[in-house]
Amino acid sequence: MNYYNSHISKLIEEFSKLPGIGPRSAARIAFHIVNMPKEQTISLADAIMTAKDKVKKCKKCYTLTDDELCPICSSPKRDHSVIMVVETTKDLAAYEKTNRFDGVYHVLEGVISPELGIGPNEIRIKELLERMNDGVAEVIVATNSSVEGEATAMYISKMVKMLGVKVSRIASGVPVGGDLENIDEVTLFRALEGRREL
Ligand code: ZN
Repeated sequence: MNYYNSHISKLIEEFSKLPGIGPRSAARIAFHIVNMPKEQTISLADAIMTAKDKVKKCKKCYTLTDDELCPICSSPKRDHSVIMVVETTKDLAAYEKTNRFDGVYHVLEGVISPELGIGPNEIRIKELLERMNDGVAEVIVATNSSVEGEATAMYISKMVKMLGVKVSRIASGVPVGGDLENIDEVTLFRALEGRREL
């Protein structure tokens, strides 16, 4: 790629690192940006930096938020005795869209994957277990139904049960290997309603 100006090459290289962007799209975006009016470029760079600086993780559930506590964790209208465990903030958003869950969440920021060298200590399991002394009555494990998601659910179930808290798993209406964020709201709602105790 050294037949491009080195600054363009660097820009293409950076975009190629983003999810879902291959080398061709990366080149298209890079050229688009250098041809954009300067104000638009500044506004884009500014939005990226502001988001990076201002977006925090909720102290309780680790979802992305603007404040110390996210709106769900700080809401008195939510049932704080039921915690739904999800892999990512995107999964949390998918469940929120169903409008049928009034508990709170815990975002693991990943799943256990021996293949990738991700153990229980690399995701937010310890933080979840620390929340168990706050009068929690049920933990609903809503990790994806991939091999890693199932293994993570089993691990969490074992640890939470040892602390005397009820654990359930969303129903397998969710297709195997399916990404929660791509599943429609009705399916998600059914998965939640049909959960079974582990
Ligand atoms: Zn929160």
